[in-house]
Amino acid sequence: MKKLSILGSTGSIGTQTLEIVRENEDIEVVALAAGSNILMLEEQAREFKPELICVFDEAKAKELEVKIADLNIKVVSGMDGLIEAATIKSADTVLTAVVGMIGVRPTIAAIEAKKTIALANKETLVTAGHIIMKLAKEKGVSILPVDSEHSAIFQSLQGNKKSQVSKIILTASGGPFRNSSIDDLKNVTVEDALKHPNWSMGKKITIDSATMVNKGLEVIEAKWLFDVEFDDIDVVIQPQSLIHSMVEYIDGGIMAQLGTPDMKLPIQYALFYPDRRVLGGKRVNFAEIGSISFMKPDTEKFKGFALAYEAGRCGGTMPTIYNAANELAVSKFLNKEIKYLDIAELIKGAMDKHKVIENPSLDKILEAEKEAHEVVRSLSERLC
Ligand code: NDP
Ligand code: MG
Repeated sequence: MKKLSILGSTGSIGTQTLEIVRENEDIEVVALAAGSNILMLEEQAREFKPELICVFDEAKAKELEVKIADLNIKVVSGMDGLIEAATIKSADTVLTAVVGMIGVRPTIAAIEAKKTIALANKETLVTAGHIIMKLAKEKGVSILPVDSEHSAIFQSLQGNKKSQVSKIILTASGGPFRNSSIDDLKNVTVEDALKHPNWSMGKKITIDSATMVNKGLEVIEAKWLFDVEFDDIDVVIQPQSLIHSMVEYIDGGIMAQLGTPDMKLPIQYALFYPDRRVLGGKRVNFAEIGSISFMKPDTEKFKGFALAYEAGRCGGTMPTIYNAANELAVSKFLNKEIKYLDIAELIKGAMDKHKVIENPSLDKILEAEKEAHEVVRSLSERLC
């Protein structure tokens, strides 16, 4: 029996993970964690009966404790609670699907506790990849990608030699503004940006897809997961989201993973690796699709995407600045405090002001996060 702790159980990835748990008899949930959605947590508690639930918000945790007093479940809160859920003794696997770099500390704690990591929370790897990958190696812990592109790369690496890889090719849908002009983008609304053509996801990653910052984060995520240089990571827009990513080998041969866009496949692959399990849903019908097209990403239009390569190549604390500035800028855009195009400008503003610290400790990473937030706050005041 596989025993699972889910960080971010009320989100898009978390709820799809629970669907997989429902469909497979040999996997059990021992811990759940979320930010504040206690309505959904109560339902999940009654259905899955975990040993422990963390609600990050302390007041909401107290409310939940009262609501589920009839169940024998420990309720915890805050960062200590999140770490308790990530390190709970009975779990062998921790699925990290919280949104944002709040996931850094619990992920490190889970690796220290020798849990297998099914990683959706890309912001954590972007900011602390050098700590996480080294620690995972030391502890003999596997980090299995959930992000669909990285799962596709991981699947395309099976049975081949890592030393014979020449290039990673990440595919991107291009988001809802793939065909818009820069002029069109000046007045994009939150509602427009939330209309992703192919995937249904949480709000933050949907905005990241609309700015292509998501692909930027994924480039840095790929660097850490697969130990490749930035020069060997290409990005190509493939609007149908049919090819989930590719690996090119030294002989020019390319391996790819294809499928209908459904996050349950990569989640399930990470949970049961190296097994494949039956999964329902629509199958690819090539004749119906007719054609697959490709485009180069426009780095003038998607400045936030281009900045990821800059931040990644610069290294040290710069990817944290890139990520943290984006996290705050996206929440300001969602609150209608800034415009769509301001997101990339604010990331750039925070990166321009930053003095890089090489090989940063966790404390330095968290300090860099604060610095990026302060710069974004002060720059965005000037925008109003
Ligand atoms: P959602 O916004 O749908 O869900 C986020 C989850 O994180 C919720 O359960 C939320 O709880 C929880 N959370 C937020 N803040 C905290 C906190 N402080 N402590 C504990 N839990 C917290 O996001 P997604 O599921 O879309 O994305 C999750 C991660 O997976 C992101 O890093 C994203 O980039 C990555 N990812 C997502 C994909 C997708 O298809 N959705 C695809 C590939 C990667 P609450 O509901 O209570 O706020
Ligand atoms: Mg992805």
